Amino acid sequence: MKIVVANWKMNLLRKDAAAFCEAFLKAYKPKGRVEVGIAPSFPLIRAVKNRVATSGAKVFAQNGHAEAKGAFTGEVSMPQIQDSGCDGVILGHSECRQYNGETEATLVPKIRAARENELLPLLCIGETLAQREANQTLEVLRQQLSILPEVGAGPLWLAYEPVWAIGTGKVATPEQVREVHAFIREEVVRLLGEAGKEVPILYGGSVTPDNFEELLTIPDVAGGLVGGASLVPEKFLKLVQQAQAS
Ligand code: PEP
Repeated sequence: MKIVVANWKMNLLRKDAAAFCEAFLKAYKPKGRVEVGIAPSFPLIRAVKNRVATSGAKVFAQNGHAEAKGAFTGEVSMPQIQDSGCDGVILGHSECRQYNGETEATLVPKIRAARENELLPLLCIGETLAQREANQTLEVLRQQLSILPEVGAGPLWLAYEPVWAIGTGKVATPEQVREVHAFIREEVVRLLGEAGKEVPILYGGSVTPDNFEELLTIPDVAGGLVGGASLVPEKFLKLVQQAQAS
């Protein structure tokens, strides 16, 4: 199975999302075992879901709260995300780790809450530039993955997103991606046993139609989590077509 997920971050208004869906759906032909996902910001979720539902594309939220309800002003719960039409939720994105203080400890109850509400967690992990330069990449990833036994086997997609490659135009080299994805697979199997073999591992970080084909040839790269290039329907479509052809 190959997977391409658009992370729109805090971009687009309703009219832009509608135009994106129209342009994308006009040319998109579901094919083979390729899953397409779109993660709009909260106010756009229902409109996007309504438009893409018949295409089979999944809709993801970009974050969610661990508690089901209560006095958490500004937050959105997993039941609300599920109720708004989402199939999954991105968790642990490096921007949430950086700006919202997301940590391994806060992610455990979020992953559990997502699953309890039939939402597929798409967990992001990745090292900063300083950590890579200090040769700490694998250690950081090991730490970020260490929560897996706590949440146990269950629905899960992973995305390896080196922080230094997100939105910078700097893509990890095929060698770097090969090394890290092999390490992640090994860790996930060590932590979850046989079930770990089935967890798809996406790559994210300045993915474009110019580099995606090569990334897709790397063992254990199940697809891409895409920010910037996913805002342009033609580019996103091209990425999906590349996954279909791989
Ligand atoms: C992301 O936000 O998950 C991402 C990978 O962004 P970009 O593709 O713009 O680097």
